[in-house]
Amino acid sequence: MIKFANIEVTTHCNMSCNTCNRTEVIQKPKHLKLLNLGFICNELQKEDVKEIKVHGLGELSLAPSELVWNIRKAFPRRVNLVGITNGQWGITERIRTNMAMMNHLYFSVDGYNRETYRMNKPTGNFDLIGKNIVELRHPNVSINCVITNDSYFIMPDMVKYAESLGVKKLRFNLFQNWGDADKYGKYEIVEHEELIKVASRMKDWAYGAGVDADIIGNPDFKKQECKWLKEMVYITVDGDIVPCCMRRDKLGNIFHSSLKEVLSGSLVKKFIEERGDVNSKQCSNCPYVANAPLLKKLGNTKNDHSLHR
Ligand code: SF4
Ligand code: SF4
Repeated sequence: MIKFANIEVTTHCNMSCNTCNRTEVIQKPKHLKLLNLGFICNELQKEDVKEIKVHGLGELSLAPSELVWNIRKAFPRRVNLVGITNGQWGITERIRTNMAMMNHLYFSVDGYNRETYRMNKPTGNFDLIGKNIVELRHPNVSINCVITNDSYFIMPDMVKYAESLGVKKLRFNLFQNWGDADKYGKYEIVEHEELIKVASRMKDWAYGAGVDADIIGNPDFKKQECKWLKEMVYITVDGDIVPCCMRRDKLGNIFHSSLKEVLSGSLVKKFIEERGDVNSKQCSNCPYVANAPLLKKLGNTKNDHSLHR
């Protein structure tokens, strides 16, 4: 049964981040159609869904508000609705209402001041995010920070930044390379002594500040144990069921077949079978696999998702 679903409500984005693995998708932007959302919710209601991430390869605040309302209406409040936003918006009633539907809201902030923020997000307005976090007053906010080989040093100061905004949860993601080695290889973090020291300093500062700060990921991740397509599903704006949040192979379409039919279909079966074979090339370039050894060295990491044990 599916326990976690990622519904891609939009692929529109108002940013251009250096580390964006999604440029091909967000360059042809689309919103999920309301009618099609109905199909998705009907299918997910037959499953044992505990958490829905309302996010895709795009910016949540740009999605039509009725999409978020309808997802919230379709599932009881105990189904955890999680949203991720780059915080590049002015607060309107629509934004306030949409964000309030979320049980948890992640703000993507990859720097603690204008200079460090622009290293990865050159088109973004750093000041706007802090202002929005404070003014929105959402009861359950985390700051999500991608760190690269060039920006790992920001970790301790990110703790101070979170503290200054009254945010008590901070997650660091090691940059994940979703495919294009030439373009993104330079951002991948390699292990070195200074990184280990910085991570440890970050932990000390977080402890002192009472901020719950972690480097996110599963240090024991193995592709053979991947839960996507078994307990987790990613549904694109076009209704395609794809292997996970990082891959766009079309394994079936929820607007043409039921979710059960897609998940028990030959394409999904073949994908899972190949992924489960250690000698197969399927998923051999998985960023979770690539980052696992470093996560182990860094210690004290936390799983991004409870299903990713
Ligand atoms: S905010 Fe997200 S989707 Fe938009 S450009 Fe940045 S990484 Fe890509
Ligand atoms: S790339 Fe990684 S996370 Fe995605 S389906 Fe393959 S093993 Fe799972």
